Amino acid sequence: MTGKTIVILGGGFGGLSAANELRKKFSSEHKIILIERKKSFSMGLSNLWLITGERQHPSQGEHALASLKKKGIEYLNEEIVSISPSERRVETSSSSLHADYLVIALGAELAPQDIKGLQEAAYNFYDSNEAYKVQNALQQFSKGTIAILITRTPFKCPAAPYEAAFLIDSFLRNKKVRQRVNIKLYTPEPQPMPVAGIDVGNAVVKMLQERNIDYFPEHNVLKIDASSKRVLFEVDEAEFDMLLGVPPHVAPPVVRKADLLGPTGWIPVDPKTLQTRFLNVYAIGDVTTIKLANGMFLPKAGVFAENQAKVVAEKIFADVGGESSPTMFTGEGYCYLEVGNGMAAYGVGNFFSTPPAVRLENPSMQYRKEKEDFERSRITEWL
Ligand SMILES: Cc1cc2nc3c(=O)[nH]c(=O)nc-3n(C[C@H](O)[C@H](O)[C@H](O)COP(=O)(O)OP(=O)(O)OC[C@H]3O[C@@H](n4cnc5c(N)ncnc54)[C@H](O)[C@@H]3O)c2cc1C
Repeated sequence: MTGKTIVILGGGFGGLSAANELRKKFSSEHKIILIERKKSFSMGLSNLWLITGERQHPSQGEHALASLKKKGIEYLNEEIVSISPSERRVETSSSSLHADYLVIALGAELAPQDIKGLQEAAYNFYDSNEAYKVQNALQQFSKGTIAILITRTPFKCPAAPYEAAFLIDSFLRNKKVRQRVNIKLYTPEPQPMPVAGIDVGNAVVKMLQERNIDYFPEHNVLKIDASSKRVLFEVDEAEFDMLLGVPPHVAPPVVRKADLLGPTGWIPVDPKTLQTRFLNVYAIGDVTTIKLANGMFLPKAGVFAENQAKVVAEKIFADVGGESSPTMFTGEGYCYLEVGNGMAAYGVGNFFSTPPAVRLENPSMQYRKEKEDFERSRITEWL
């Protein structure tokens, strides 16, 4: 067997999982190369702890990627500038590479500039530095209206904006100012986490009601006026004193430039094998689109990126050995939904069932602890 070169684009959830799985399987004559523009990895869930001050600074959630080298994973801290999937060729800011196998794990990019006024008016808590700013702003906040605005679908971690609302509610209660603050959540979705089904949606609506968080589904934002602090929706208008926004998500520019996208604006893949339409080119995680039996799409979440990476690693390993792997991505996933006061609910299910079969288990301190373990175990394993 001659040494192969496997190139992984992106060092987030999916890329790190893929690189580690592949390195475990392949001997050192095979090259595993990971290209990532950032010097460190951090999980999105860390942003929620930044909002509340449980994590005091973004650097506490950042973990250096340089440690990959010790594991025999070649890490190129470079900007990917072009991808030719038909030739499996990648150009970066300083290298030109040809891959025998290519794994695209470039995630979703945030595009706050796509909504007029959003950048000026809102804290983008999907960015760790902005989530950190929310922490300081919340410390000062004692009266008025906090609005959480989901601008467009799809967005990463469908639970995260609801978690932000619950955590802010809990924070303000502990600060004894909650009775003077309105919390409002606006979304274009018909219910919370629609892909998880009506029962999960109703359970989350009930949790919002129990906490006096006003919920406004089917609210599609048109623009925001930062000076008058007003959001204009298709259906009505709203005022705010503090605004937290989930910006629109788009495929990264380098993916848009390559001949990779389907009509949804994301990379279409075989749902079970994660193969793209190009030979030996796989795509995983947020950059992909997978249509489910109910006509909706697989949510963008780290657990899926991680599990897809494991399937892809099996497939590549089997292929190099001249075999085919029976391992398939099954659409199973879970998440811990923070509800405040050190508690989290637990959502789990199979999104490939017809219809997706997802249940939400009641909040507990144990689930909140498991969420911390979720982060810790990945960092320990991957870096
Ligand atoms: C607030 C919040 C909470 C969340 N909570 C959870 C949770 O509890 N559980 C869960 O499973 N998921 C959660 N998520 C979602 C999770 O973070 C994403 O779904 C996950 O990161 C997707 O993994 P990925 O590998 O597809 O993309 P990413 O992790 O985003 O990785 C993509 C990488 O590609 C790099 N990249 C892009 N373009 C280039 C380029 N041109 N050159 C070089 N590098 C490039 C990026 O820098 C990035 O590091 C949360 C997200 C947020 C925002």
